[in-house]
Amino acid sequence: MSNGLHQFLCAAALAGLILYGAPPPAPEKIDAQPKVVTPGAQPGQPPSDAIVLFDGKDVAQWVYKDGRPAAWPIVDGILTCKSGTGNIYTKQKFSSAQIHVEFATPYMPNAHGQARGNSGVYLQGRYEIQILDSFNNPTYSNGSAGSLYGQYAPLVNVTRPPGQWQNYDIIFHAPICGKSAGDRKITTPGTVTVLQNGVLVQDHVTIQGRTTSSDDTDPCEDGPLMLQDHFHPDVKETFMQFRNIWIRPLQ
Ligand code: MG
Repeated sequence: MSNGLHQFLCAAALAGLILYGAPPPAPEKIDAQPKVVTPGAQPGQPPSDAIVLFDGKDVAQWVYKDGRPAAWPIVDGILTCKSGTGNIYTKQKFSSAQIHVEFATPYMPNAHGQARGNSGVYLQGRYEIQILDSFNNPTYSNGSAGSLYGQYAPLVNVTRPPGQWQNYDIIFHAPICGKSAGDRKITTPGTVTVLQNGVLVQDHVTIQGRTTSSDDTDPCEDGPLMLQDHFHPDVKETFMQFRNIWIRPLQ
């Protein structure tokens, strides 16, 4: 191309840009916007739409199975399992949900396997995410910390030593049941995803039915969150600790 022609074409292109500008972007389509939720001030703190189940003040959201008020003591904002008094249940029942629980296992060097720092978070009172002191404490893998008890071992052992705070973040999708009154059977099994201390330990596993020592209730009905008072003949007291428990029901 000759120099003159090149200069002419450049000038023409520039003139076109000045005259007409760049093509306008397609207008944004503003559709229904996601609900605004304010996150917790710190990681693990309840977001604005969470139902707080324990915040260190009282245990008013919890009862025993027979409906009596839960009597697990609170000391310095920490809920401690009162061994021998029984499992505690939320008054409120839930379906699918995001759940956050913080716990610290007791130091029990003379106990081993399932006897060492055992508790559990039971989804709908039926499906146990195992709490256990699995720090240098071998047991059957699908009964160790972060397991869906008796069904799935955790992907990794990310357990902290006893006495240190740990957390579970759980995404639970409840089983789906038939809609008609005569067809109250599970049509789609439930699933669960669990992060322990921020690390994935259950990756969207399919729940195979209620876990051992759970309540034999209708899996098509909502159910409470339950914290386990684990009985073991070798252990009189466990001193399992809990704090900062909240839940976000999912649609
Ligand atoms: Mg347990």
